[in-house]
Amino acid sequence: LARRLAHVPPTVFSEMSALALRTGAINLGQGFPDVDGPASVVAAAEAALESGANQYAPGIGVPALRAAIARHQQRNYGLEVDPDREVVVTTGCTEAVAAALLGLVDPGDEVVVLEPYYDSYVAMLEMCGAQRRPVTLRAPAFRPDPDELRAAITDRTKLVLLNTPHNPTGTVLTGEELQLIADLAVEHDVLVVTDEVYEHLVFDGRAHVPIATLPGMWERTLTLSSAGKSYSFTGWKVGWATGPAPLVQAVLAAKQWLTFTSGSPLQPAVAHALDHEPDWPRALARDLQGRRDLLCDGLAAAGLTPRVPEGTYFVTTDVSHLGWADGRELCLALPERAGVVAIPTQGFYDDVDAGRHLVRWAFCKQPEVISEGLRRLAEAD
Ligand code: GLN
Repeated sequence: LARRLAHVPPTVFSEMSALALRTGAINLGQGFPDVDGPASVVAAAEAALESGANQYAPGIGVPALRAAIARHQQRNYGLEVDPDREVVVTTGCTEAVAAALLGLVDPGDEVVVLEPYYDSYVAMLEMCGAQRRPVTLRAPAFRPDPDELRAAITDRTKLVLLNTPHNPTGTVLTGEELQLIADLAVEHDVLVVTDEVYEHLVFDGRAHVPIATLPGMWERTLTLSSAGKSYSFTGWKVGWATGPAPLVQAVLAAKQWLTFTSGSPLQPAVAHALDHEPDWPRALARDLQGRRDLLCDGLAAAGLTPRVPEGTYFVTTDVSHLGWADGRELCLALPERAGVVAIPTQGFYDDVDAGRHLVRWAFCKQPEVISEGLRRLAEAD
């Protein structure tokens, strides 16, 4: 194995989903819904397949989807995006992250990232040879400390890699937190790459604010998202990046050598979703809020201490109250002992002590599945 990957462990999501399949356990680990997105969008994909949208799409993405993404940014956030120069379609947000980092970061560049971080960020930063500067979101509040942000973002920083709503903690960055990051980015002239795949999955009347909408930020921000989480099509792998033309060009410069272009028949279908099912993600969020409460109440009753998430479809718990100092040990034992799979999040921290006792549970599952998982947990010894 090449040195750049030698220290990156295999993704815990595949490891834990394989464990769930092997043991027949209920999978509250990997974040994928057990009900698909809107039928009209599936029909649009079938129509695209049959109408011959089966050869290479343009590298930048099919025009209908780029236009729909631009309208989505306008409608939701008042951002005026040129669909021909300021949007690029990617193979999921994971490719958008990869292409953004490969297109913008040189070996040795410092990149500030919130930890716990989504595992692909670290793998990509390693592949780019970047210097990682984590800002730790600590239990139980999981908020960035302003002084730690100030210390991390300096003239040596190339870019800040943000994620809000934040996986795995469920934190939604507040206007004040975003403003501080924006002020530091402008002061030190650094870029921001922001993964906003859970943009519509926020609870209790909260609003998601893209940092690109703050004064002085559009020109230095790449905003990434996807249809996977908003429309419950995680397997479609249709994502995108929006931002000023030079930053979108940097994504495209890398993307052309990664996947060349993204799958063509699914792009018109996602355009259909954005244009014709604009309220579907918010309805999903309302539904998820009830499941969040079901899961959090049950986890609390089982002696875990959930941090009620503000967004995403994940809840993080402290398992030390159950007598488990190490969340990974618990997660490896849980399928056999209780028939449930969850994700240890310690691997998402450089500061391992900050995450050793934390476990993430997904609630993007049908209520009966969550209830059965909770019943099994309650009965386990
Ligand atoms: N984003 C999802 C999660 O956090 C799926 C991740 C994956 O399988 N790579 O669970």
